[in-house]
Amino acid sequence: MTQAQLSDRFRLQHAASRAEGAASAQERRGRLETLKALVLERREAFARAIDADFGARSAMETGLLEVTPLIRSLDHARAHLGRWMRDERRSVDLMFQPSRAWIRHEPLGVVGVIAPWNYPLLLALGPTIDALAAGNRVMIKPSELTPAFGALLEAAVAERFDPAVLTVVNGGVDTAQAFSRLAFDHLVFTGSTRVGREVMRAASENLTPVTLELGGKSPAVVAPDYPLDKAARSIAFGKFLNAGQTCIAPDYALVPAGQVRAFAEAVLDQARRAYPTLQDNPDYSGVISDRHRVRLREAVAAARAAGAEVLEHPDAGDGNTGKIAPTLVLNPPTDGLLMQEEIFGPVLPVIGYDSLDEALAFVAARPRPLALYGFTNQTRTRDRILGSGLSGGVTLNGTMLHIAQNDLPFGGVGPSGLGAYHGPEGFKRFSHARAVYDVGPVNAFERLGAAVGRGGGPASARGPAVSGPIGGDEKGRNPAVPPFPFGP
Ligand code: NAD
Repeated sequence: MTQAQLSDRFRLQHAASRAEGAASAQERRGRLETLKALVLERREAFARAIDADFGARSAMETGLLEVTPLIRSLDHARAHLGRWMRDERRSVDLMFQPSRAWIRHEPLGVVGVIAPWNYPLLLALGPTIDALAAGNRVMIKPSELTPAFGALLEAAVAERFDPAVLTVVNGGVDTAQAFSRLAFDHLVFTGSTRVGREVMRAASENLTPVTLELGGKSPAVVAPDYPLDKAARSIAFGKFLNAGQTCIAPDYALVPAGQVRAFAEAVLDQARRAYPTLQDNPDYSGVISDRHRVRLREAVAAARAAGAEVLEHPDAGDGNTGKIAPTLVLNPPTDGLLMQEEIFGPVLPVIGYDSLDEALAFVAARPRPLALYGFTNQTRTRDRILGSGLSGGVTLNGTMLHIAQNDLPFGGVGPSGLGAYHGPEGFKRFSHARAVYDVGPVNAFERLGAAVGRGGGPASARGPAVSGPIGGDEKGRNPAVPPFPFGP
């Protein structure tokens, strides 16, 4: 897509957003229904396209982790839209009564969505659902690393939607950069922290507000009281789905020092049960690109060279396939690649701790993560984990499932993100809370002001005198209050 075509698409939406009033609840529900029909109708084609883009991506995972959450979120938005759209009555200070104040939730206008490759369908349409529910028009830019998916989404959307309401633009990084320079009313970016900075810089030129959904190293802390096997099962589930290419996958695990090896073996055992074979197994996803495969192999090799023990799934292949086997790295050096950068692959460092306080301090001393996983059955320990430092969200005694709660906001904090969406927070994120004040039949404040201006107001309304007799000067005027220019 050329720069001129991109600008034309934007201008079309922008002009429509300014010319036409806010979409009614009925129109918004209609758009959400159309989107639902599109996803359901094309779900198998989407799964095939994503499989082609990844080299191997389980259709089951696309169904479970992308299609199902989208449908649940569409249904949730349609069911709650009426309540979210309702005006919010606000109280009025005594000196302004009788009158009324309220908030109208108005669409912002045109929302841009830049999506990553790891869950291309969910992360393109997830923010779109909330933005459409809030009455906006939306432009989506899928990742250049999922070209088959991007082409399919563009065609499917063009078939069902007026481009003045929803449109998809495909292209390389240059298109993504040009996209981030458009004067959107809001821009949602999901991707790496590094690119997030560039997107925010570009958006600042137009004073476009951004929501940044970024990544980071999300820790799993297993407290001494929690059964090791149960924690291993949940952490293996979160780590090996989509071969670890999940923004909220547990990045590393902290376990009591004496249990590092037992825990690593238990996680590997879970991986073997879930994926008895890897290379010929369509349910075990490939790693998206050579660059990422090389990155992961080098990080593990560096930890091994530094003396860390490495456990690997037996079907690791010859290193020339698109798949990386589930890999456990025991106590890698904390200054190595594995513990310095987001892993984003099926490699789990396991680090032993001597006391829970030490483990929590380890987490708190690092950049605030997108997710935190705490495993304990004790209320006090749970509260210690929750109170030890911030993360975008938390799942207790499990992994990843806070993202699936439609009524909870989803987002990061600090380097893991800015702003949140999903459910009511998503609706508000893409709405302007417009303050409306209706003076009503009697403008008591103006009358009071006029009386003060003439020096005839009640002493209590004149305010404190700056100098002179109490309540004002010799004529009753208060020098702190300028004469009020309007009569009653
Ligand atoms: P990425 O940052 O490389 O790319 C994301 C998108 O940005 C792509 O569509 C790309 O075209 C576009 N892009 C690239 N350069 C750009 C630029 N200079 N200006 C504007 N846009 C540009 O990320 P990725 O590799 O696709 O995804 C992996 C990262 O995303 C990981 O860090 C992961 O944790 C994060 N992530 C976060 C969430 C979340 O919800 N918080 C979800 C999924 C992935």
